[in-house]
Amino acid sequence: MELIADYDLEELKKTVASLGQPSFRAGQIYKWIYGGAEFSEMTNIPAALRDDLAEKYLAQPLRIKEKFASSDGSVKFLYECYDGNVIEGIYMPHDYGNTLCVSTQVGCRMGCSFCASGIGGLVRNLSAGEIAAQVIAVNKFLDGNATERKLSNIVLMGSGEPLDNYENVTKFLRLITDKNSLDFGMRSISLSTCGLAENIRRLADDGYGVTLSLSLHATTDESRRELMPIANKYTLNEVISAVKYYFEKTGRRIIFEYALVKGKNMSYFDCKRLAELTRGYPSHVNLIKLNYVKEKGMQGCSNEEAERFMKKLNEMNVSATIRRSFGNDVGGACGQLRRSYIARR
Ligand code: SAH
Repeated sequence: MELIADYDLEELKKTVASLGQPSFRAGQIYKWIYGGAEFSEMTNIPAALRDDLAEKYLAQPLRIKEKFASSDGSVKFLYECYDGNVIEGIYMPHDYGNTLCVSTQVGCRMGCSFCASGIGGLVRNLSAGEIAAQVIAVNKFLDGNATERKLSNIVLMGSGEPLDNYENVTKFLRLITDKNSLDFGMRSISLSTCGLAENIRRLADDGYGVTLSLSLHATTDESRRELMPIANKYTLNEVISAVKYYFEKTGRRIIFEYALVKGKNMSYFDCKRLAELTRGYPSHVNLIKLNYVKEKGMQGCSNEEAERFMKKLNEMNVSATIRRSFGNDVGGACGQLRRSYIARR
């Protein structure tokens, strides 16, 4: 089975032409896909063409299997892919707009010491259309008729390492920012990476201009290696120089994610080194209160400790805030919904 959602409009035109149909049909089908429709629902498409397409292709490669609404307005989603794999995401209503966090891989092979997504390793990459389908499905969930875009921001911060799935993730960026699809701006999309330095540079060179978030989480190579295996491949020096390059090429401020882990990265010296690492170019530090993952055993910190760390950073003239956490009453950190589903099954 091939996924129609993997196609951009030009590719869809070719497919439609190969079936002997006029190219305006491609535009119609494309619109339906981004509205979340199945072939059977595409009422302005001739039935014979719908049948031809349905024989070879899937219109929607995933569906919302379970949803959990939190009292804070966020909704966690468990999606089922066409091959039976499950992935997850969360919708978060912010005052500046509605944000959807999407997954880019089933599982992850980065193996960070505090993260649930990596338990069980990488199963497979998600295709461009499967990443888009998460946005499509939730947009349709928010707007039953799917006649307009209800989401304003996308963050690639769900399961998976986006820069470990470069081709599909960048095709997703092209698809979702197409004015004929859902017309997101690159600037309203954030990509979070554990720091694949070469691909950070590639992303800069390829000119996508999304907001780059770097999962830093440590201020020395030694402590970073303890938390994140990727630090064995790229030193802090290499990662920081890659994000500076990203800023120079795109003009985009760099966001640093720093999860406070008890006994690992919260000392005064960490604070000082963090200030040094993030100085000299536009940047912002998002302090994250660690979500407890029992298989991993890493402990987070109290609100007071997070506040204290933030104040120290602010005193050193570092722009830093504590990231608001969503959906705490409907299950734990990202990756845990999928794990609990697999355990139940
Ligand atoms: N692979 C990418 C994106 C997915 S993770 C990356 O590493 O950036 C999104 C963010 O959540 C990362 O900053 C990641 O380090 C963080 N994270 C992972 N597990 C967490 C946990 N248990 N508590 C808090 N943040 C966590």
